Amino acid sequence: MNADLERLIALQKLDSTADAARRTLAAEPEHEQALEARLEAATQHVADAKEKLAANKNARGALEKDVAVHQGRLSKFREQAMAVKTNQEYHAIQHEITFAQTEIKKIEDSILERMMESDDLTLAVKAAEAQLAAEQKAIVADRRAVTAAHGEMEAALERITVERAALIAELDKQVLGTFEAVSRKRNGVAMSEARGGVCTICHVRLRPQVFNTVRRNDSILQCDHCNRILYFVPAPAAAAAAPDASPQPAS
Ligand SMILES: [Zn+2]
Repeated sequence: MNADLERLIALQKLDSTADAARRTLAAEPEHEQALEARLEAATQHVADAKEKLAANKNARGALEKDVAVHQGRLSKFREQAMAVKTNQEYHAIQHEITFAQTEIKKIEDSILERMMESDDLTLAVKAAEAQLAAEQKAIVADRRAVTAAHGEMEAALERITVERAALIAELDKQVLGTFEAVSRKRNGVAMSEARGGVCTICHVRLRPQVFNTVRRNDSILQCDHCNRILYFVPAPAAAAAAPDASPQPAS
């Protein structure tokens, strides 16, 4: 293979790796924000669940007070019923007693409903708290992974800078100029594999003569359409380059 072409392939590999590392590093603040949003949502969920439970307790407290008021009236009416003189008075008091009893029954039903609701709300608080704890744990692990990856990527970028400088020093200046110009224009991807007569990045079919020349990997040729520098990966040669690889079972 043309030595410069080989260097360009290596250079592209370094550039693409560096690009991916830089993009991941640049996305870290956004990633952290997403983690914080998750934590905030889980915390809010707990607060909401607790608020609902507290509202339920307050409602129950108010209902219990109402029951007490009606019970107070009821005992007063019962005392009065002992002292009535006329039939008419007796019926009037009985009417009040029945009314108070009905009210008490209604409110007690309401209290029972709140109590059942309270069981569900207590479970909801526990579930929200468990979810918050799980989120906190996941987020700590995630942050630890980000920190580790951050260190690895910075080390990789340093290594790439050194390797890149060495490659560039050996490259023909004009060839490097072409690579850099295409790279700037094509989002950092200046190299494209030609396979089956097609540029694998822009998918345009190459002229047969061009593809035949690319297959020899002995010159710097650009795709007519996307201008990327073309290279060819011969399948048997790839297998020969890795003699240690055990033969793959036919599938
Ligand atoms: Zn192309």
